[in-house]
Amino acid sequence: MLWAILWDIDSFGSTGSPLAGFLESLLDQLDGGEAAKGREAVPVLLPVALDQTYDYFTPPDAEAEGLRPGAFVLVPFGPQRRIGVVWDKAVGDGKPVNRAKMKAIECVLDVPALPEISLGFVEWIARYTLAPLGMVLRMMMSAQSVFEPEKPRFGVRYVEDAADPPRMTPARQRVLDQAADGLIRVKSTLAHEAGCSTGVVDGLVASGNLVEVAVPERKPARLDPEHKHNDFTDDQNQAVMALKSAVDAGNFSVSLLDGVTGSGKTEVYFEAVARALAKGRQALIMLPEIALTSQFMGRFEARFGGAPVEWHSALSPADRGRAWKWVARGEARVVVGARSALFLPYSDLGLIIVDEEHDASFKQDDRVHYQARDMAVVRGSLGAFPVILASATPSIESHVNARSGRYRHVVLPGRYSGAELPEITGIDLRVQQPDKGRWLAPPLVHAVEETLEKGQQSLLFLNRRGYAPLTLCRSCGHRIECPQCTAWLVEHRFRNRLHCHHCGFSLPVPDKCAKCGEEGGLVACGPGVERVAEEVKERFPDARVALLSSDLIPTLIEMRQVIKSIENREADIIIGTQIVAKGHHFPDLAMVGVVDGDLGLAQGADPRAGERTFQLLHQVTGRAGRSYSGGRGLVQTYNPEHPVMQAIISGDRESFLEQEIKMRQRGLLPPFGRLAALVVSARDKGLAENFARDIARHAPFSEKITVLGPAEAPIAIIRGRYRWRLLVKASRDLDIQNYIRAWMETVGPIKGDLKLTIDIDPYSFL
Ligand code: ADP
Ligand code: ZN
Repeated sequence: MLWAILWDIDSFGSTGSPLAGFLESLLDQLDGGEAAKGREAVPVLLPVALDQTYDYFTPPDAEAEGLRPGAFVLVPFGPQRRIGVVWDKAVGDGKPVNRAKMKAIECVLDVPALPEISLGFVEWIARYTLAPLGMVLRMMMSAQSVFEPEKPRFGVRYVEDAADPPRMTPARQRVLDQAADGLIRVKSTLAHEAGCSTGVVDGLVASGNLVEVAVPERKPARLDPEHKHNDFTDDQNQAVMALKSAVDAGNFSVSLLDGVTGSGKTEVYFEAVARALAKGRQALIMLPEIALTSQFMGRFEARFGGAPVEWHSALSPADRGRAWKWVARGEARVVVGARSALFLPYSDLGLIIVDEEHDASFKQDDRVHYQARDMAVVRGSLGAFPVILASATPSIESHVNARSGRYRHVVLPGRYSGAELPEITGIDLRVQQPDKGRWLAPPLVHAVEETLEKGQQSLLFLNRRGYAPLTLCRSCGHRIECPQCTAWLVEHRFRNRLHCHHCGFSLPVPDKCAKCGEEGGLVACGPGVERVAEEVKERFPDARVALLSSDLIPTLIEMRQVIKSIENREADIIIGTQIVAKGHHFPDLAMVGVVDGDLGLAQGADPRAGERTFQLLHQVTGRAGRSYSGGRGLVQTYNPEHPVMQAIISGDRESFLEQEIKMRQRGLLPPFGRLAALVVSARDKGLAENFARDIARHAPFSEKITVLGPAEAPIAIIRGRYRWRLLVKASRDLDIQNYIRAWMETVGPIKGDLKLTIDIDPYSFL
């Protein structure tokens, strides 16, 4: 199998993991596989990099209960035991099964089976992305604790009429005061609340003043579709009606909810969620990970009287397991999650909302390369329910679909508050230069001053982490690069280290040049957010500054706290990377300054560079003046004539879209044509290049296909691996997957250190 070698077979469920011990103990209770002979065989798919199912005999009768497609089973696999899923049909290389070698399923696990629709979804994604079936299945098993035995948790509760403990200490008294409310608490929590050690709690259990009880299993909050009534504007009402009728129709449809920032898209799509809830269906709201803010959750609770079930990378393993089961059992009514929430085992999903649908973080670029927004649409079509895509700056793809009538176009033209959109001005850096070694041009500095004087907030946006993107030696010109990647090291001054943003390599900032040995000659070139913060603190020493950058605020919880503090006006000047651009509603923010408007435009090979820059700049400037008119945006640029800058400054989105769509049409770029990227990599430079050339030579001829390259990738080396790229362009009516599948059959085996990744609908061209 060609695909088998594209991914390392992972160690999921293999010996050594905590799971392994549990598997061993399970197996001790079973008899051997010999008794299996003569029984029926079923196909089982394993969550590994293979594109086929394996046949296994059914387990002994008693165990066969629950054995149906979708059931999780334990099977011997080579020297290991693994968890797999009973599949609804055999998938594979067509070789006849040797019954003499066939093994038996060891047992059916006591875990909710995957719904039938999930199996179809796995197959669809695998076929579309060309990823092995098993790797797609693996995404549906991303909650390991589901497969581990449930440990009942114990807590303690106050005993009402117990006599005072023999020896009352202040610590004991504090514990008893805390516990007097009769709630069940885990010992460590109670000890923490009372400010003492768990030993004190144990002492009170011994004295009979506290009693140990099982902590009841948590359940998701109850949601009430009627909890809060909103008064909608006429425009909003029309949108609400359109979305509700899509839910009522009870079949597949896609609506593009296209509304300016602050137009009330969230409130409007909540009504569609309420409708789905009222009909007894589950709903999924997908957000770019970083936008899972307390703000959103607070608004959800206000609307539905309870919190949704969350699904994102910051969940603990136990929370993941719980959420997975709630979804499978239908107890989770609404899930709010990042892209991987799409792969939960919904028992009755009836609506998906993809908020900020244009956001590039919906594309996953490792293992299985998929675009979650597009797969959400696929899921809707498989489940025959509506999908709503929401954005203030929809993707060109969704726009084209809305224009052609494939998607319903639901428009919210104005802000709910009635506030005008901010006025945007360009600052031509060729004319208005910042002082030497500074990054803010005089008009921007002046705007910050004015905003401060009015007691309002400013936001300075620069989509670059760290202090400076390049460090060079003044005497010999040496640039400090990553030893493993084609990339400069980025200085992070707070940590006093240089970091590679591609591989994570870092080293302390050196004090002399590694090449010429000159001391004190290293200089930082260009700005990152840390450097802008430094300038702001010098210029406005009395202002309260908040710096938002994902590397400085590592957890979601801390991020939510910082965002909350901004909402509460605890900062005057906010400086941030793209995490400030998305979804937030900062009521007092009056001015947004973009430090480097040209930053995203340089990526020449990326057909979406213009679109993405437009979206980002529009979103970030759209944070200004959301509650009142008079908000403004200033964009520093060296290219004020660039169509993207023109569109941002004039606010003329439609003519920008028009141009962009024409350009895509002419170049047969998505959505008018289809793309796939092939990336070959190896530690040996020649090996990578030769194999890439070999692949290109084998490309079957087709009038509807152009194969570009191979060419050295823009980031030619990552983690010491040399990278070569090919780009496949196909017309829309061609089955690009079939073409590539047939092509790859003719390419020699991928041996040794070579790696080939295939990315259908690529979003990264680096
Ligand atoms: P968008 O998602 O389009 O940026 P939001 O849904 O965040 O817009 O709405 C912007 C602000 O206006 C929010 O504070 C929201 O609560 C408020 N809002 C919008 N529509 C209404 C409404 N009909 N009733 C009350 N508040 C509303
Ligand atoms: Zn690196």
